[in-house]
Amino acid sequence: MTIEKDLSLFHRHTFGMDVRAAYWAEYQSEQELTDLLQRFSDRSVLPIGSGSNMLFTKDFDGVLLHSSMCRAKALHETQDEVWIEAESGLIMDELIAQLADMDLRGMENLSHIPGTVGASVVQNVGAYGVEAKDVVKTVYALNRETMKVDELRAEDCWFGYRNSRFKSEWKDRYIVTRVIFCLFKEGHLCLDHGGLQSVFAGVDVDTLKANDVREAVIRIRRNKLPEVGEYGSAGSFFTNPVIMSSEFAKLQTLYPSVPHYDTSAGVKVPAAWLIEQSGCKGMQVGAARVWDKQPLVLVNTGGATSADVMLLAEQVQNRVKEQFGIDLTREVLYI
Ligand SMILES: Cc1cc2nc3c(=O)[nH]c(=O)nc-3n(C[C@H](O)[C@H](O)[C@H](O)COP(=O)(O)OP(=O)(O)OC[C@H]3O[C@@H](n4cnc5c(N)ncnc54)[C@H](O)[C@@H]3O)c2cc1C
Repeated sequence: MTIEKDLSLFHRHTFGMDVRAAYWAEYQSEQELTDLLQRFSDRSVLPIGSGSNMLFTKDFDGVLLHSSMCRAKALHETQDEVWIEAESGLIMDELIAQLADMDLRGMENLSHIPGTVGASVVQNVGAYGVEAKDVVKTVYALNRETMKVDELRAEDCWFGYRNSRFKSEWKDRYIVTRVIFCLFKEGHLCLDHGGLQSVFAGVDVDTLKANDVREAVIRIRRNKLPEVGEYGSAGSFFTNPVIMSSEFAKLQTLYPSVPHYDTSAGVKVPAAWLIEQSGCKGMQVGAARVWDKQPLVLVNTGGATSADVMLLAEQVQNRVKEQFGIDLTREVLYI
């Protein structure tokens, strides 16, 4: 285990805020995590992976707990499936690259999303028609109340759109340490998303491999999203609002071309479209800016403060509310 005091977080999260943490502690096993929690029982602790879904609004006065448990192994194999156990600190995209090289299918659409295996289940990360929940079987997490590792079935994790029980009822109870994913040897390539449909138009899906889809996803993302390390950001700043059908019908009367997707909870409207239509594209506060190629992303163009980002986010929310009467909810966690 390593413990660092009064550490700059500039390189430890993706928004590039110039803030510090009182403690940064890394663990290499579940036992070390238990030891750290006991040692810092009088301080506030927060698990952190790559810090790619966080905005530090000020210095952090507690302990940031970072997993350096980074192994993955095949657990069991059937004719169709391979079950992989991956540790929480492993970079999700490194795992996906390895799986795609073996043509194990199911996670390739999640390629190039920054972040760790542990956070991927907390967030239920999603992209191009696939979410982490589609491949998660079991989550192992240290229960801070009992100090034991619990085995949690996917169906008990209440996965939803960028959501899970780890963000609500289990918020301060569990620290994820390992995840079992179920991958497929054949089929299961998901090309439903519009972006992928156009790349593979006319191509027989049976001729494709996981790596073909992975490469296409990475190309699309590189054209749209800021590269980590080049511009500070936390990806999509807001979630896509889901509104009632009656509300949507009124919106569609005024804006017949509004893009939308039906879901069991209501009609999902792309927040990027709402933001763009409200005239927010390119809007800037200090060095924080609405990203031109994907207005759902707020970027730090260099030297932005958290106050700049928060004010910009508020301005975007106000404009969308004024024009459409829709509240945008933040996806990014303010610390
Ligand atoms: C350029 C860019 C593009 C992005 N694109 C996407 C995208 O397409 N789809 C998508 O869903 N997201 C996207 N994101 C958001 C982000 O990458 C994901 O939310 C990712 O899962 C965060 O992983 P992380 O390790 O950085 O988590 P962090 O930001 O470090 O943490 C996120 C949350 O998880 C908690 N947490 C972290 N580790 C653990 C653990 N071991 N146990 C319990 N809780 C834990 C933290 O306390 C925090 O609440 C993007 C971000 C960026 C910067």
